[in-house]
Amino acid sequence: MTKIAIIGAGIVGATTAFFLDQKADNQITIFDEPRGQATSAAAGIISPWLSKRRNQNWYRLANVGAALYPQLVNMAQLDEQAYASVGTLVTRTTLTKLEDLWQLAQSRSTAAPQMGHVEQWSQQQIEARLPFLKADQFNGGVFVSGGARVDGKHLVTQLLAHTKASLVQQKARIAQRQTQILVNQESFDKIVIASGAGAANLVRQLGLNLLVRPQKGQLIEVADQHLAIKKNMPVIMPEGERDLIACGPHRLMIGATHENDQAFDLTVSNAVIDDLLSSGQNVIEGLTKSMITNVRVGTRAYTNDFAPFFGKLTGFSNIWIASGLGSSGLTTGPAIGKMLAQDVNDEPVDYPSFSLPVSNYLSSSARNA
Ligand SMILES: Cc1cc2nc3c(=O)[nH]c(=O)nc-3n(C[C@H](O)[C@H](O)[C@H](O)COP(=O)(O)OP(=O)(O)OC[C@H]3O[C@@H](n4cnc5c(N)ncnc54)[C@H](O)[C@@H]3O)c2cc1C
Repeated sequence: MTKIAIIGAGIVGATTAFFLDQKADNQITIFDEPRGQATSAAAGIISPWLSKRRNQNWYRLANVGAALYPQLVNMAQLDEQAYASVGTLVTRTTLTKLEDLWQLAQSRSTAAPQMGHVEQWSQQQIEARLPFLKADQFNGGVFVSGGARVDGKHLVTQLLAHTKASLVQQKARIAQRQTQILVNQESFDKIVIASGAGAANLVRQLGLNLLVRPQKGQLIEVADQHLAIKKNMPVIMPEGERDLIACGPHRLMIGATHENDQAFDLTVSNAVIDDLLSSGQNVIEGLTKSMITNVRVGTRAYTNDFAPFFGKLTGFSNIWIASGLGSSGLTTGPAIGKMLAQDVNDEPVDYPSFSLPVSNYLSSSARNA
C-alpha cells in the first residue's frame, strides 16, 4: 500500500486523486481548507483554441486538457452541470478582425479535433440565435462547437465521489523530519501539493521560495425571468467586454476580473461589481443592478511567465507540486492532474512538452535547504 497525501481539493487535487485512485494499492488522503478556492469561483470556460497566447507549451497543455474532459465525463459519469459541451462564440467588432479570427480558427482546427466544427456567424445570425444580445455591438463572430462550460465546484464533488479518497477539511502544514515528510504530523510515502495560490506558503515550510503570486478574480451572477437565456446557450466571449456564461435558464455569469494587487483579499468590491455590470449592459438588453443574485470571489495563482508548472518538487524525491494555473486552470487542470498521478505511480511523463521545470519557479537566493 502507498500512503499518499494531496494538499488542495481544487481541479488539480481532485483530478490527481481521481487518476491515482485507479490504482488499488494507493491510499489517498486529501487535505483542503477551501478558502478562496479558484476552482469553485471560476467562470468555467473551456475553449483555448482561439486564444492569442504564443506560449506553445501552454497551448499544447490546454488542448490536451480540453480533450480530456469528454473522457472524464465517461470515466466519472459527470453530469451536465459538471461539464456541458455548449460551444463558444468569440465576437469581433470589425470585419478585418473577424477575418483574422476565422483564419486562426481554420488553422487550428485540423490539429485539434476536440474543437468540433467551426462556423462564422454574421451579425444577423447572432441576433437570431441570441436575441438577448445587442447584436449591433458586433460585426460577427466565430462559433466553435467543442467549447464547453464547467461548474468547478460541482465537478470536484463528482470526481471525488468516484474515489475512495478521504477528504480532511483542514489547513495542512508540511514538515520534514530526517527522511520523513509529515503532513499535519502524519507521515506519508508521497505528497502532492495542489494548493493553488496557497502553494508558496506550504513550500516555504520546506525552506523553499516559490515564485507564485495571488490574483483576485470576481464575477457576478445575474438572474431574471425576462432574460431570454437558455441553459445550453454557448459561452459568449465578446471582444473588449467581459465573458457571458449561462448557468441555468434565465441565469448568467459575467466576468471575470484579474486583480494583481489584492493579495488574498476575498471581499466583494462595489466598484468591481459596477464595472462588471456595466460591461454586461454594453452587450445585453435590459440588464439592471437588481438582477445581480451573487458575486463569486476566488484567488488564482500566477507566475512571471503566466504559465503553470508541475512535477517533482526540486530537492525532494517524494513530493510533487502544481501551481500557477492562472486564468485557464480549469482547462489545463485535468491534464496536469493526470500527469502528476502517472508520475506518482512511477509511470513515464513527458513534462518538457508542456511546461518548464519546477526549478524555474523557485527563487534560488531564498533557498536555505
Ligand atoms: C473568477 C475566476 C474565473 C475563472 N475562470 C476560468 C475559466 O473560465 N476557465 C478556466 O480554465 N479557468 C478559469 N479560472 C482559473 C481556474 O479556476 C484556476 O486556475 C484553477 O481552478 C486552479 O486550480 P488549483 O487546483 O490549482 O487551485 P484551487 O482551485 O485554488 O484549489 C486549491 C485548494 O487548496 C486549498 N489550500 C491552499 N493551501 C492549503 C493548505 N495549506 N491546506 C489545505 N488546503 C489548502 C485552497 O483553499 C483550495 O481549496 C478562473 C478563476 C477565477 C478565480
